[in-house]
Amino acid sequence: MEQLGFDFGVEPQPLIKVTPARLSLYDDCPRRYRMTYLDRPTPTRAGPWAHNTVGAVVHNAMRELFGLPVAERTPERASVLVSRHWRSAGFADAVQVARYAETARRWVADYVEAGGADADVVGLEQWVSATVGSDPAAPSLIVEGRADRIDRRGTELVVVDYKTGRRTPEDADARRSRALALYAVAAGRTLRAPCSRVELHHLPTGTVAVAEHTADTLGEHVREAEETATASRAAADRLTRGGDPDRLFPARPAPRCAWCEFRPSCPEGRQAAPAARPWDLLTPTT
Ligand code: SF4
Repeated sequence: MEQLGFDFGVEPQPLIKVTPARLSLYDDCPRRYRMTYLDRPTPTRAGPWAHNTVGAVVHNAMRELFGLPVAERTPERASVLVSRHWRSAGFADAVQVARYAETARRWVADYVEAGGADADVVGLEQWVSATVGSDPAAPSLIVEGRADRIDRRGTELVVVDYKTGRRTPEDADARRSRALALYAVAAGRTLRAPCSRVELHHLPTGTVAVAEHTADTLGEHVREAEETATASRAAADRLTRGGDPDRLFPARPAPRCAWCEFRPSCPEGRQAAPAARPWDLLTPTT
C-alpha cells in the first residue's frame, strides 16, 4: 500500500557557524584552512613569529589599558602594560628583543598621548554573534568572534581593530575588510545599538583608517561570507565522505607561503617562496 506522505517543501539547511578569521583563511588558501581546522592530528607547523609576538603583546596591553578608568589610561601605564605582557618568542637575539620591546612601549604610549585613550568603551575582546543571511527570511550563517574593541560614540557603536604590521592601512582597507563588516553586524545585534562605522588603528604610525558602512555594503559582505561559508562546508562534507583532500582543499601558492606556519607540511608552498626568517616580518623601527 502506498504510504501517505506530507510535502513540507525543501529541507531547511542547518545554520553554518563561522568566524571572520575562518572565512578569510579559506579564501586565502583552502589547504591552510584544512590544515588549521580539519586535519587531525594538526600537521607540523613552523613558528613562532616575532611579528605575531609583538602583535599579541600590544593587543594584550591595549585590552588591559582600556579596562581601566579613563583617568588611569596614561602613557606611563600603557608602557608598563607592554612590559608586563612582553614575550620574546621568534626574535633573532636579545638586542632585537630589547629594541622591539622599547618600540612597542613607544607605540602604545604615543597612542595615548595622541588622545586615543579617551574612548567610551563598551566591549573589549568581546564575543559578538549574529544570525545573518542574504535572504533575511532564511538566514544561513551564525557569525561570531571577538572584536578588539567596541566604542560608543553618541548613540552608535564603532568597531575598532588594532594593527601592528608593516603596511599602513588605508580607508579602502577598512571598507574592504569583511571581518570588520561582520563584527559591525554582530556588535549591533549583540549590543542592540546601531553600528556602521569600523576603524583600523595602526599603532606604529598612529593612523586611523575608517569606513562608514551602509545596509547595502554590510549586506554585500554578508553575501560574500555566505558564499565562502557554503563552499567550505561543501568541501568539508565531501572530505568526510572520503573525498580527495588535495582536490577539495587545493594549495594556493603565493608570496605569503614564505611565512605560512604550515610550510613544513606543504611542498607547493615551499616551492612558491623561500622561507622567511621568524623576524623578517617585523615592522621596521625608526
Ligand atoms: S604554504 Fe602556501 S600553499 Fe601551503 S598551506 Fe601555506 S599558504 Fe597554502
